[in-house]
Amino acid sequence: MEYANCTRSGRTRGADVATQPGAGTIHITANPPLLTPEPFLYCSVHALPERAFRPVDDPDAPQSRRILQFEKEYETMLNYPAAYQSTKGSALDVNKPFYRRIAEEQGQRKLVESIVVPIRSGQAWTVPAGHVFRIVTIEGPQVADLNLWNRHDPRERMWASRTRQLQQAHVSTFDRLWSTLPFLRPLVTITDDSLANYGVDEHGGRVHDLLGTRCDPYVNRMLTGEDFHFHCHSNLTRAIAPYGLTEYDVHDVLNVFQCTGLNLEDKYFMKACPAKKGDYLEFFAEIDLLCALSTCPGGDLSLPMWGPDARDPLEVCRPLGIEIYRLAPALLAGWSSPAVAEYRGLHGMTLQQPDWKRGR
Ligand SMILES: [Zn+2]
Repeated sequence: MEYANCTRSGRTRGADVATQPGAGTIHITANPPLLTPEPFLYCSVHALPERAFRPVDDPDAPQSRRILQFEKEYETMLNYPAAYQSTKGSALDVNKPFYRRIAEEQGQRKLVESIVVPIRSGQAWTVPAGHVFRIVTIEGPQVADLNLWNRHDPRERMWASRTRQLQQAHVSTFDRLWSTLPFLRPLVTITDDSLANYGVDEHGGRVHDLLGTRCDPYVNRMLTGEDFHFHCHSNLTRAIAPYGLTEYDVHDVLNVFQCTGLNLEDKYFMKACPAKKGDYLEFFAEIDLLCALSTCPGGDLSLPMWGPDARDPLEVCRPLGIEIYRLAPALLAGWSSPAVAEYRGLHGMTLQQPDWKRGR
């Protein structure tokens, strides 16, 4: 298969895609309007298997028809089934009416604590099981790095990579954040997300990111040769110190309000935060939690932090609000805090009996 005119510089918005009957060649031209967004073309040309490109039956067919034929193949590629399916009644099946009611019945909650997290800082707080907490953009767009632990045992903490598999790489309403082994249970369930309709943007970006992790002073020093003490890893470290925890307890985060994706080279990208003042992400605490949040020193990520145009994004850093609510008991009817995983951690190992126990 030969990809004609498919250099990086030749790919522009509004390109046409057509196959040549018999020749097995894809031609891409830039002028005619295309019905699909730019990433469609990028992804298609590079990622589609060869068999996805079929010869056009009628080379004189209108452009739109040829494009639609190509589009259909692309849709097929994107519809490859997820590895983990939330089948009815399975452990991944969420009781949506229960959580929807919590989000909708605002009169049945009472604000019990309100916290402001200043710019470039960290804050930790506790939430009892059965309560709800919100992260709010109180002044405008700002990304945040969230960590979660079992309030009574910090060895149980959020497991970002497993959550990516069991839920999605970007989370929203009804997704859960799962805990590490050997515990493996939902720590929180997302009950509301004011950015839920953001969907997928023209670059394939989505919000509330589990792909990346926190910014940290070690990578910063490695890449810039400079020390900076207010990266999210450090902010989280300072935040949890009063709870007897250290930087070894800081773990991979949920990047709240952060818009990210993977580009055609499978590399991670971050875009400017799409949140507006008053946006929020809301969580239901499934167990007693210790939470910590960092207001990222990158602010809303609208200014380049690397490369020739890099500058200090202090001007786009904003505080965030935390709101903790107690729910009316009626809202919790039928709910119970989830138990840890049933597997008992034997791992196929058998205990070797000592001689004295075998009667020798
Ligand atoms: Zn950060």
